[in-house]
Amino acid sequence: MEQSPAIELLKQALRRLPGVGPKSAQRMVLYLLERDREGARQIAQALDNALEKVGNCSRCNNLSEQKICEICESPRRDHSMLCVVESPADLISIEQSGVYNGTYFVLMGHLSPLDGIGPEELGIPRLEAVMDESNLKEVVLATNLTVEGEATAHFINELASQRGIRATRIAYGVPVGGELEYVDSGTLARAFTGRQET
Ligand code: ZN
Repeated sequence: MEQSPAIELLKQALRRLPGVGPKSAQRMVLYLLERDREGARQIAQALDNALEKVGNCSRCNNLSEQKICEICESPRRDHSMLCVVESPADLISIEQSGVYNGTYFVLMGHLSPLDGIGPEELGIPRLEAVMDESNLKEVVLATNLTVEGEATAHFINELASQRGIRATRIAYGVPVGGELEYVDSGTLARAFTGRQET
């Protein structure tokens, strides 16, 4: 059966989402067109709105509607501490654990030379500028406990020690190979309080 080109296009678009295969994409398209056209309109508008308003904080790289995000700007945060994470999702997990009150730097990935992701792609020069400009006492390396996450932490550890900044690594309780996004709050909180010198 030939399907309408518009339906086909929408299916292809939805398949860009993580975890969405051809069957789920088809189910979503048919659901929206048959049963919830108003919902479909809301999704389209919300997407447009978010794309227009949300960018990256020019200091920490986190997703933000302001040039400088709320965390970077807050006088209630400890600006002598900088926690380096791989993704905004990791930042949210740490915030939800409630154990950390410093600032962040979001790499948007990890070092992966085979995929052509080096220091430049991760914004490491900007991280170095933050290290140089701020009065940092500690850099907390909270990249994932995967091979790439460890390599990335090691690389940033070097940058911190060159500047005489203490670097610590979260570890305790987080399973090896674990991605922070999927670690529960209690475990993450213990990983923070039990962080160790690198
Ligand atoms: Zn920020």
